[in-house]
Amino acid sequence: MRVFLLVFALVWNLALAFPRVGVHQGFTRLVFDLPQGDVQYGLSQENGQLVLNLRGVKGASLDQVVNSAEVVSVQTIPEGEGVRVVVRLKGPVEAKVVRYTDPDRLVVDLILKKEAASPAKPASDPVRNRPPRPPKPVVLLDPGHGGIDPGMVGHVVEKEVVLDVALRLKRLLEREGIEVRLTRDRDMHLSPDKREDLSRRASMADSSQVNLFISIHVNATPTRTAQGVEAFYFGQAQDSRILAQV
Ligand SMILES: [Zn+2]
Repeated sequence: MRVFLLVFALVWNLALAFPRVGVHQGFTRLVFDLPQGDVQYGLSQENGQLVLNLRGVKGASLDQVVNSAEVVSVQTIPEGEGVRVVVRLKGPVEAKVVRYTDPDRLVVDLILKKEAASPAKPASDPVRNRPPRPPKPVVLLDPGHGGIDPGMVGHVVEKEVVLDVALRLKRLLEREGIEVRLTRDRDMHLSPDKREDLSRRASMADSSQVNLFISIHVNATPTRTAQGVEAFYFGQAQDSRILAQV
């Protein structure tokens, strides 16, 4: 059995999550990828929650922790012929909703209402007058599997190798002045349910404003035909309409 290293490097844009959540300066963006056809939606806001009902859309049950300036979390609940999306808010928001076609999607921008935003600091505040430090790039490393999920088991156990690789890579990146976060730093799973486990890893990448998400895996083949390193990555979107929106 040959073992080879598999590395996923994704500029974070989770295709599986519904909705996709983007944290931006001054607003949180929810992007709902819609099927072609008749989709209806309704929006309401009360008691610190914004509820979006979508009819004609299928979405898996998912609770994404966002923790942006506007949003605590986004929960997707399948219901009958559609889904209900409950957005827990940090304060009253203005919701700007735009529907796009080709591809069909609904973009909801949530902006804290002025009276809810924290009062601006006076201009004489010395902290404000300091030149802003250039932000450190942030990389989220995801050692695959862990805990009850060993991953590939051959001459080595995948969950152990990928954790070791991630911890070594963390040290190398930090030496270059990069801030490194980990989805796990020891032998643990994020959920005993595989789908939920992957969803939590995804949420960590989506909610923590990371510049790069790297998921590290070690695969094996019984046929002794494969060796080496395999890398999958998402590059920048090429479509200018998507670049403009997401
Ligand atoms: Zn794996």
